[in-house]
Amino acid sequence: MPRCMPEPYRIKMVEPLRMTTREYRQQCLDRAHYNTFLLDADDVYIDLLTDSGTGAMSDRQWGALMQGDEAYAGSRSFEHMCESIREVMGYSLIIPTHQGRGAEHLFFQNFIQPGDILPMNMYFTTTRAHLELAGGEFRDIICDEAHDSQSDFRWKGNVDLDKLDGLVEHYGSARVRAISMAPDVNMAGGQPFSMANLREVRAYCLERGIKVFLDVTRIAENAWFIHHLEPGYEQFSIKEIIREICSYSDGAWMSSKKDGLVNMGGFLAFMPGEEELFAKCRSQVVVYEGLHTYGGMSGRDMEALAVGLREVCDDDYLSCRHSQLELLHGLLLKAGVPLVHPCGGHGVFVDAKAFLPHLDQDEFPAQALAAEIYLEGGVRGMERGNVSADRDPVTGRNRRPRLELVRLTIPRRVYTESHLEYVAETVIEVFARRDQIRGLKMTWEPEKLRFFQAQFEPLPAERQLSAAEGMSASAG
Ligand SMILES: *Cc1c(COP(=O)(O)O)cnc(C)c1O
Repeated sequence: MPRCMPEPYRIKMVEPLRMTTREYRQQCLDRAHYNTFLLDADDVYIDLLTDSGTGAMSDRQWGALMQGDEAYAGSRSFEHMCESIREVMGYSLIIPTHQGRGAEHLFFQNFIQPGDILPMNMYFTTTRAHLELAGGEFRDIICDEAHDSQSDFRWKGNVDLDKLDGLVEHYGSARVRAISMAPDVNMAGGQPFSMANLREVRAYCLERGIKVFLDVTRIAENAWFIHHLEPGYEQFSIKEIIREICSYSDGAWMSSKKDGLVNMGGFLAFMPGEEELFAKCRSQVVVYEGLHTYGGMSGRDMEALAVGLREVCDDDYLSCRHSQLELLHGLLLKAGVPLVHPCGGHGVFVDAKAFLPHLDQDEFPAQALAAEIYLEGGVRGMERGNVSADRDPVTGRNRRPRLELVRLTIPRRVYTESHLEYVAETVIEVFARRDQIRGLKMTWEPEKLRFFQAQFEPLPAERQLSAAEGMSASAG
């Protein structure tokens, strides 16, 4: 009996993978300064770095590529993309961008005024970076359960309305002009919000004239949870649920590289009523992205996205994807590996604090663990913890978030059950020798989004950072 739901597709083309030796991987890791983002993909066996742009397209999408209209202005492919977005999500005012952060850039530069407070259900790295670049401030209004890896609460992506109300009371709706919600909250471990929560948030905001903007990057994966687990929603299709989610918003941005099922692309979209903001953003897209009918995407990419947005609404595809995630989550759980619960919508998140309790958070346990998993079996994951959280802009200190995670992200329609079993075995091997794993020291970091490029080296074996710091303090 297969442990995963059999895939509702078969393989038409293959891409060879290369296994390497441990000695070779140690050299690769040294060259990459212990940052999995700096490894060459050819040196990776199973690549679970991200689900962003790493999915496999269908034969229909490849067919659609051939029909791309590469006209500079007024491309027919742009029209096809807009029709698909309107059909699936209901947004009618659409601006294409090269990827998600291009849309975030346009949105925040044109919507945010310096001093604005933007409450969000946790944060996403590029979203917060663009918010802060525009002079806004982020506030976390996600429910407390989201910060607790052991809580089994199913709707950890939910907004805590008391937290939102506290901010509105404190700052007033002149500074809290909008809130933003992301489905399938990445930094919380791929955790969904419920429709009931979104509806409540929308009602609260409507009463006070506060806008709601969504980051719809993983909206189909959140819709799957609602369809299968929220009472009353099993009778609605995934597409109907997506439409309902979007109907509670004034606009949204998307990285199409995730639930758009394409390798590149994004967009910014608004509901009727937001014509003014739409016009501002649209007049700027030509400065930063490209003409307003392609915005950094080629015609063929827009055609593939038009197909991908409809394909992602298939419940069989989403159920199979979720069963892959549950398989990996279940195998690791059985072996006692500490994980974020419940299993998320796009990856399995290992709790690095509990995995490596002997390391201080400023010795970057999740960064160290991601490196060890690569060394063990050529499996590439990524850090989602103290490095990803960046420094506090006021104090300059590491933010030391409560969640210190390694994300094993499953690309869409790419790997099979046996690949995932191999991944589980690799992580379990590392777990068996966890006591010997050393922390890391950051030797270089860029100013923003440091996790992409920061460099590290292992701390000396005898004692870790705290002791080393104590020595230099006494010497000085
Ligand atoms: C990936 C992502 C983005 C940024 O999109 P890019 O296409 O990588 O620029 C924004 N929000 C969320 C939730 C994401 O996962």
